[in-house]
Amino acid sequence: MAADTVLDLLARGAASAPAIGAPENKPLTFAGLRDLAAKTTADLNAMGIGRNDRVAIVLPNGPEMATTFIAVASCATTAPLNPAYRADEFEFYLIDLKAKALLIQQGEESPARAVAAKLDVPIVEVVPDRSKGAGYFTLKPEKPMSGKPAHPGKAEPDDIALVLHTSGTTSRPKIVPLAQRNVCATARHITQTLSLTPSDICLNIMPLFHIHGLMAAVLSSLAAGASVNCSPGFNALRFFAWLDEVKPSWYTAVPTMHQTILARADRNGEIIGRSKLRLIRSSSASLPPQVMAALEKTFNAPVIEAYGMTEAAHQMASNPLPPRSRKPGSVGLAAGPEVAIMDTEGNLVPRGSLGEIVIKGPNVTAGYEANPAANASAFTNGWFRTGDQGTLDDEGYLRITGRLKELINRGGEKVSPLEVDETIMDHPAVAQVVTFAMPHDKLGEEVAAAVVLREGQNATEREIRDFAAKKLADFKVPRKVVFLQEIPKGATGKLQRIGLAEKLGLGT
Ligand code: AMP
Repeated sequence: MAADTVLDLLARGAASAPAIGAPENKPLTFAGLRDLAAKTTADLNAMGIGRNDRVAIVLPNGPEMATTFIAVASCATTAPLNPAYRADEFEFYLIDLKAKALLIQQGEESPARAVAAKLDVPIVEVVPDRSKGAGYFTLKPEKPMSGKPAHPGKAEPDDIALVLHTSGTTSRPKIVPLAQRNVCATARHITQTLSLTPSDICLNIMPLFHIHGLMAAVLSSLAAGASVNCSPGFNALRFFAWLDEVKPSWYTAVPTMHQTILARADRNGEIIGRSKLRLIRSSSASLPPQVMAALEKTFNAPVIEAYGMTEAAHQMASNPLPPRSRKPGSVGLAAGPEVAIMDTEGNLVPRGSLGEIVIKGPNVTAGYEANPAANASAFTNGWFRTGDQGTLDDEGYLRITGRLKELINRGGEKVSPLEVDETIMDHPAVAQVVTFAMPHDKLGEEVAAAVVLREGQNATEREIRDFAAKKLADFKVPRKVVFLQEIPKGATGKLQRIGLAEKLGLGT
């Protein structure tokens, strides 16, 4: 029977087999991880936290982030947050989530601490103990906590395992609740797509506050009874040493990481020669066919491009493993949910036609939280509209041709242009601002902003950027700010973000 909870999914691994590793550390076995999940359930329950209570998690990347996610998800709702957020961002998320506690690594400075204290969100320290295996930890509340959770014990299939925010077309990020059965379905789909077996070893370099790393690297590995070795995060200088030490059979990353790895491949020929990669996976942004070809040649392994999205608990489509063909420039075949193309009237269109990519399946969220307007426009006849535009060829391979939503995809990191607009509008010299995507050779897209200053006021590009950086995590801060007398309008007289870079002559 298919496992429908994170805890049941862990039951697959052999007791003495490694589950979670980290470079230069001894691994935590499946038995160890199951014990940790049981202990965490008891500890959180004793603090008054139980099923469907939200636990915000701010941890550096690494094995503790992976184990905290797994252990907390087995009895409550995890809400991982990007540690790079500024205080204002943490405040928004902790309030919006109605977090019952903030889990934060012992010894780590973070503006989240002061924000949690101000909001009366209890802080619980995650104290790593790597002598017991990578990712082993104990929980230590800053102040004594007690209480009786409404629903103690193990999470049920319809409980929410994970909540993430998406930077959508609105400035206010939307909460995406993913049920235990949603995340388990994704883990199963990825396991099948990649034919993962207990002997596989994944090297994780993806951030573990994002759906890609959590599902594709961590949960799918564990679902297969395989192991995931959790690095402290992508580092081009250390990647090859990890490759040599960990001997992974695969890794998954965004295209910019693959490009950076390729740029250093020449001087690491010996390590590459000894490496044992069975496959390389790419997702979250489009992989240029040239990069795919160069990666395959360098590592002598198939590169599997997949298409993922938070609302789908990540994977929607993927190129298949050999001997079936992978098509460069395509994100592959439906790989879990059903995938179809819809016209603006809500009709499904035949193969070969262009339209909005829509999905339906057990991995898809039941809907945004407390946001009927967003759900009304996101779901049509039971299909979830991705906001991406594409076409299916006659063999069922999906090609993404554009985007209907106003998101900026900065090398896989998503930025809502409206959120950046709102922040910059608070600058006293700014009369009008439009944030838009500017083409970038490595990232695909970079954040840029066009600003009209108030009459008689002055501001430099530097001042606008510094102002934005006080409120926004670095990746959202426009790399380029252009000052204009007037923002160019589209044919309909509406401000148009799409095509603005071209109009302003901003290319790579
Ligand atoms: P996220 O929710 O951060 O996973 O972002 C989802 C969005 O990333 C999708 O709606 C697409 O716009 C984009 N995306 C994901 N995978 C790919 C891919 N392989 N090629 C192009 N865009 C992608």
